[in-house]
Amino acid sequence: MAREHDAYLTSRLRGFGSTIFAEMTALATEKRAINLGQGFPDYDGPPEVLEAAVDAIRSGQNQYPPGPGVADLRMAISEHQSRFHGLRYDPDGEVLVTAGATEALAGALLGILETGDEVVLLEPMYDSYQACIALAGAITRPVTLRPPSYRLDVDALRAAVTPRTRMILLNTPHNPTGAVLDREELRAIADLAVEHDLIVVSDEVYEHLVYDDAEHVSIATLPGMWERTLVISSGGKTFNTTGWKVGWICGPAKLVAAARAAKQFLTYVSSGPFQPAIAVGLRLPDEYFVGLASDLRRKRDRLMRGLVAAGFEAYTPRGTYFVTVDIRSLREDGDGYAFCRELPDRCGVVGIPNVVFYDRAHESEGRHLVRFAFCKRDEVIDEAVERLMGAAS
Ligand code: PMP
Ligand code: GLN
Repeated sequence: MAREHDAYLTSRLRGFGSTIFAEMTALATEKRAINLGQGFPDYDGPPEVLEAAVDAIRSGQNQYPPGPGVADLRMAISEHQSRFHGLRYDPDGEVLVTAGATEALAGALLGILETGDEVVLLEPMYDSYQACIALAGAITRPVTLRPPSYRLDVDALRAAVTPRTRMILLNTPHNPTGAVLDREELRAIADLAVEHDLIVVSDEVYEHLVYDDAEHVSIATLPGMWERTLVISSGGKTFNTTGWKVGWICGPAKLVAAARAAKQFLTYVSSGPFQPAIAVGLRLPDEYFVGLASDLRRKRDRLMRGLVAAGFEAYTPRGTYFVTVDIRSLREDGDGYAFCRELPDRCGVVGIPNVVFYDRAHESEGRHLVRFAFCKRDEVIDEAVERLMGAAS
C-alpha cells in the first residue's frame, strides 16, 4: 500500500500510508469500473432526513455545534438506544457526537489506551482499528474468525487475553465478514471482560443491517457490561449518508469523558447542519428500519446468486452490506490483492482484498478472500454480475 510515500511518516503509522478504500475507489474512477469496493450506497436515504439537513442549512445552523453535539441529537441517540436496545444513557454526559464512527473509535482508543496496553479484537478487522491502536502506542492482539461460519473461537479469545490486556474491541455486525455475534458468543466475551476487568469498545455501525434470523445484540445489554462498555455507531449506514460523518459514542460518563478529551483535539466538532437531520432519522418509525434491512437482504441475495453463478465460493453474510468470496476458483494462486488490482481491466468491477483486514503475521488467512458491497441499485448489481461472469468464462 503506497509504501513509497512513507518517507516522512511516523514509525507508528508505517504500513498504514494509504487506505484500501482510497486506493480502490480511485481505481474505480480511473477505470470507470463498477465500484463494489468501498461501502457506500449509490442511492439516497429518507427524504425527511435530507430535507431536515437542507432546512438546517437554510435556517442558519452553519456554525460550530456544541462540543458534545447538538442537544436534540444527543436526546435522539439516547431515545434510539432505549427504543431498539433497551439501553439507557443520559444525553448529558453519556452520549457524545463525533465525526463519524471513525472519530468515535479514534477518540475512544487515543483517549483510553496507554503505551504498551494490549487490545484484543476480531480479525479480519476494519482498517482504522489497527492504525488507531498503533497511534496510541498500544498493541493489537487479533482473534481470527474463519469462513464459512466466521464464528468466534472462544478458546482463542481466552488465550489472547494477557495481564497487559486493557480492552476488547468488537465489531458486530462485522465488517468485512458479515458475521453477527450471537448471545452465546457475546456472553463468552462479557465473561472474559468481567473476569479480567476489561473495557469493551463495541462498533455497531451496522446495527440495523441484519438479515434472516440474525439479531443484533449490543454487548452493553449483558449483565455487568453497561458500566464497562462504549457503544459506537453512526448515521452513515442507517440513513445512506456516509458523507455526512455523524457518529456517536454512548457509555458511562467516565469512559465517555476519556473519549471526549481526545476527540476535542481531533475535529473539536463537525457536521453542524447534519446533526439535527440525523436526529430526524433516528426518530423515524419502525417501518423505516425494517424496510432498510429487507431491501438490503434482497440485494444481498441478488449479488450472492450472481457471485455463485460466476463461480465464486461466497459466504452468506447475516449482517452488513458486504459479501466475502473465495477467489481461488478464478485465480489459482489465490492472490486477492492482485485479483482486485486486475479486475477493473479484466471486467470493469472493483472489490476489496480482505487481506488488508488481517494482521501482517496472519495474511495467509485472508489472502484469497475478496469483499464485494451490495448497497447498490439492482441494475448496477446485475451489470456487475454480468461482467464478473464474463471474466470467469
Ligand atoms: N466501523 C466499521 C466497521 C465500518 O465499516 C465503518 C465504515 N463505514 C466505520 C466504522 C466508519 O464509519 P463512519 O463512516 O461513520 O466514520
Ligand atoms: N466503511 C466503509 C467500508 O468498509 C469505508 C469507509 C472508508 O472509506 N474509510 O467499505
